[in-house]
Amino acid sequence: MSTTYLGMPALPAPGDRAFPSFPQAAHAAVRDTTLRGNLRHATHTIRAKRAKAVAEVSDWAQLREAGRRIKDHTLRHLDRYLVQVEEAVTAAGGTVHWAANAAEANRIVADLVKATGEREVVKVKSMATQEIGLNEALQAEGIRAYETDLAELIVQLGKDRPSHILVPAIHRNRGEIRDIFRSEMSAWGRPAPEGLTDTPAELAEAARLHLREKFLRAKVGISGANFVVAETGTLVVVESEGNGRMCLTLPETLISVVGIEKIVPTWRDLEVFLQTLPRSSTAERMNPYTSMWTGTTDGDGPSTFHLVLLDNGRTDTLADQVGRQALRCIRCSACLNVCPVYERAGGHAYGSVYPGPIGAILSPQLRGTATDIDASLPYASSLCGACYEVCPVAIDIPEVLVHLRERVAEGGTATRGGNKVVLRPAKGHAAERAAMRAARWAFTHPGALAAGQRLASRTRRFHPRALPGPGRAWSAGRDLPAVPAEPFRDWWQRTRGGKDEAK
Ligand code: SF4
Repeated sequence: MSTTYLGMPALPAPGDRAFPSFPQAAHAAVRDTTLRGNLRHATHTIRAKRAKAVAEVSDWAQLREAGRRIKDHTLRHLDRYLVQVEEAVTAAGGTVHWAANAAEANRIVADLVKATGEREVVKVKSMATQEIGLNEALQAEGIRAYETDLAELIVQLGKDRPSHILVPAIHRNRGEIRDIFRSEMSAWGRPAPEGLTDTPAELAEAARLHLREKFLRAKVGISGANFVVAETGTLVVVESEGNGRMCLTLPETLISVVGIEKIVPTWRDLEVFLQTLPRSSTAERMNPYTSMWTGTTDGDGPSTFHLVLLDNGRTDTLADQVGRQALRCIRCSACLNVCPVYERAGGHAYGSVYPGPIGAILSPQLRGTATDIDASLPYASSLCGACYEVCPVAIDIPEVLVHLRERVAEGGTATRGGNKVVLRPAKGHAAERAAMRAARWAFTHPGALAAGQRLASRTRRFHPRALPGPGRAWSAGRDLPAVPAEPFRDWWQRTRGGKDEAK
């Protein structure tokens, strides 16, 4: 299903052709000076803080390499670790459910909530539940989901879409947030205080008061997880506001929707990521709140716990030897904060809950490249490599982007979520593919190539200075290289007699 936000275009699901391509979607964003100002200020602030926090750690390179190896090892043996997680969670009193795709996961969660007799849930910030459009699926079943992370609350109240992994409302400034609180809070519960200003302390207090009544009333909590420790079946959520701790401890029933790639084998492995994640994401030395739970415990926290393990394209991604490294991602968002394309286009243009460089390689793999937006995402990058430099698990994003561009240019089919989808070239890439085919033919027919080169040399006086048609924009800011009076092969034959001096 598509993820819909009132007043915003629906995010595409596999095969959904409604969302425009990245260049089209980014077109308006780059002209929005308020948006660009908000993004520039926020990303530059976070990136400077991250650089300082990382520089404090003398063994950062070793931690990064350890994280890469742990993730690769886990993904290679994922079948074994998933079974280990299921056994450990079940032994600890939890129930494990398996969801092949978004529809299955949403149905499982909706049925679990309905079985409690409740009609509202509180949520911890979770990318997995955004990915599957859980809030909208619950709404269709008459269940209201309340986001409790401050930025997610702003997005939900504003009928908006998240535009950043870590700071979903990064595109909003304080004045806009104040206006949203004033106009929308009363429709969702406790209204904003009279005379609310845009000072951070007042905005935070308004959110705290608004959310507190929901925490105290809720009987069902829904979360994701940053990590699942296979050896004990322990789930881990790291956060900064304490809303997660409230959702994970106060309700009677807890349902966690977790992507299958979130597993780490042991507690020793977890230690690595608890050092790299906070410094890479919020530039903190450690997270203010790190909540861990293993099944259920009498008299302590929720008495019922369900773990929904989500595939939704991950197994297909795992099958791609180059692209599978995207599954190492720990969602720190450091790559977004250094990306010149993200800084100018903003997160909405990526048409996914995963924006920025990681979104450009993850969404086309999870959803396939059958739509305009997914086929265009691998091109939403200058390949500058800044994302790779900051990634705490060393995902070579430029390598995967180039790999996915090849896949888009070549077309063909692939399997996504059990369905065969056509990988078609994005608009504009058909011409590129035709040019590559012509080049391949020419290079495999040397006689024709030599004749063509001689013809080009003899007619060079008549060559245009700019390309016609769609190439006009490209050549407007560039000088086309001049064709030499004599082709290289002829010059070599004439001056060297065709002999290779090195022999
Ligand atoms: S790709 Fe790397 S830098 Fe980007 S969000 Fe994932 S872990 Fe962080």
